[in-house]
Amino acid sequence: MLSAIHSLIDNTYEEMVEIRRYLHQHPELSFQETETAKYIANYYEKLGIPYKKNIGGNGVVATLEGAKPGKTIAFRADFDALPIQDEKDVSYKSQVPGVMHACGHDGHTAILLTFAKVMQQFQSDLEGTIVFIHQHAEEYAPGGAKPIVEAGALKEVDAVFGTHLWAPLPLGSIYSSHQAIMAGADRFEITIEGQGGHGAIPQDTKDAIVIGAEVVSQFQQIVSRRLNPLDPAVISIGIFEAGNAFNVIADQSKLIGTVRHFDLAVQEKIIQEMEQILKGICDSFGASYTFNYIKGYPPVINHSEQTDLVLKTVREIDEVNLATTIEPLMVGEDFSYYLLERPGSFFLTGANLEGNNYPHHHPKFDIDERAMAIAAKAFASIYLTYQNQYK
Ligand code: MN
Repeated sequence: MLSAIHSLIDNTYEEMVEIRRYLHQHPELSFQETETAKYIANYYEKLGIPYKKNIGGNGVVATLEGAKPGKTIAFRADFDALPIQDEKDVSYKSQVPGVMHACGHDGHTAILLTFAKVMQQFQSDLEGTIVFIHQHAEEYAPGGAKPIVEAGALKEVDAVFGTHLWAPLPLGSIYSSHQAIMAGADRFEITIEGQGGHGAIPQDTKDAIVIGAEVVSQFQQIVSRRLNPLDPAVISIGIFEAGNAFNVIADQSKLIGTVRHFDLAVQEKIIQEMEQILKGICDSFGASYTFNYIKGYPPVINHSEQTDLVLKTVREIDEVNLATTIEPLMVGEDFSYYLLERPGSFFLTGANLEGNNYPHHHPKFDIDERAMAIAAKAFASIYLTYQNQYK
């Protein structure tokens, strides 16, 4: 059945390209993707595959039940675009000024819709159930994944998979990781309230610059001295604002920065340590502080067994010549929320377009569309292999 599915994907390739190019010309920003959601819902309507709209926002979730019993596997595709002016010179260029599919989410949607259409042709032979999760708002926190999970989209689901078309990687390559594949990216804002005064009379002040400088330097010891050296993390302060005049001691300083991590326990440890350092230093100076830590998307942490399955099964696809592991990327992705609920794996499908080496989120970003067929075949291979392996 798998080779029949793969060749039907090949036969549906032109339609997949049409879908992608239509979406590419009609991009919508995160949380505003109502027309894209309608387009997706309409596609399932025409196929006669049951679906639900407005899941956790603009999300659309469709379900294809095979005729035979088996596991329920979810596949996810995001569908939002970015506030970027499309500068490509192609027929399918964005028709919306200042908005562009510059991350490949149009491709993700075309992959999942085509996958659904093809799998429906095999419904009478199919074991288990496929859940197609079309997610809005990946690009803009708090994102669409969390509310979709909270709406119960994974309730009946045994495992969840997703891919990102990845332009820096060559066509025919697939990469994943047995652990973290993308980072957790957080932001923090600290205000230190000291006491200002004359630059020549320091004894009557609580110098917010000196206090802030202590905080900056002690934060450097969190990663180097308080975390396990095998737990990678970054704490960076990008903004340190204080003072107005050369002869005045500042009463307030502001520190704004970012934390990157690959483990929620490490994240908690970092927050605790930051708080403790702040409290200790401010107490010793008799100053006060506010500490606002804003958690971004959690790291995307794959499950090892499901990643093994992905990397093994995709090697059987004709067009795949490399399927291996990759070091985690420092970018974020809200696919993490699905993996916190269910076992699964997120993988990168190489989509480099020859002659176009512009990165994701660039005004000239583009993909080799043939990668979409490879990704759809990967979904089919993963689905059938999973059903065999987890009876
Ligand atoms: Mn993306």
